Amino acid sequence: MPTLIAVSKHQPATAIAELAAAGQRDFGENYVQEALRKRQELREGGLPEPAVWHLIGHLQTNKAREAAEAFDWVQSVDRMAVIGALALHRPLTRPPLNVLLQVNIDAEAGKHGCQPEAVEGLADAVAAHSTLLLRGLMVIPAPHPRIEARRPAFRAARDLFDALRHRHDSVDTLSMGMSDDHAVALSEGATMVRIGTALFGARQRMAETGRS
Ligand SMILES: *Cc1c(COP(=O)(O)O)cnc(C)c1O
Repeated sequence: MPTLIAVSKHQPATAIAELAAAGQRDFGENYVQEALRKRQELREGGLPEPAVWHLIGHLQTNKAREAAEAFDWVQSVDRMAVIGALALHRPLTRPPLNVLLQVNIDAEAGKHGCQPEAVEGLADAVAAHSTLLLRGLMVIPAPHPRIEARRPAFRAARDLFDALRHRHDSVDTLSMGMSDDHAVALSEGATMVRIGTALFGARQRMAETGRS
């Protein structure tokens, strides 16, 4: 069964609580500060809290400590400096931090994520840290308006994932597919989909919610 991540960026804490109360386990946030603020709201309000938190947005090295302390998964790891910082700051009292390498699978200009050629080296670096657990890959294909045109990118990600699995026993997760393209991603082997608007409706404007 694929894992459903409820992507709650720019959604209020009350919407998160509602879905958590209904049994949704995994939630994804894009910004460290926004996630911390909403988690505090949930805690202080005595509201239902999600069991598992995923950071799915780009991570700056200077936020790595907070991310390593507050999240269960980081899906946006794409360079050595972030690996080192997360490994250093993951509290030893917690289980290892689950890591997905974000890959710029279709060489889209300006998009975060490592090049496919860099995956092996980064994966070996993650695996070398006892405070990190290498789980797999995350991709965001270019938002081609014809959804079917995204299929080759999903397929390329699957091939890369299969190769990585053969190299590292801990690898079991391929995170790909969002509200509009999850069906294609699943048909190409996604084990985890990240769904925002199809679950919560349209996001609030960033000006109203703030961002980190
Ligand atoms: C916002 C976001 C999603 C969810 O997008 P929707 O189109 O709202 O489903 C998934 N993954 C990442 C990395 C995101 O930033």
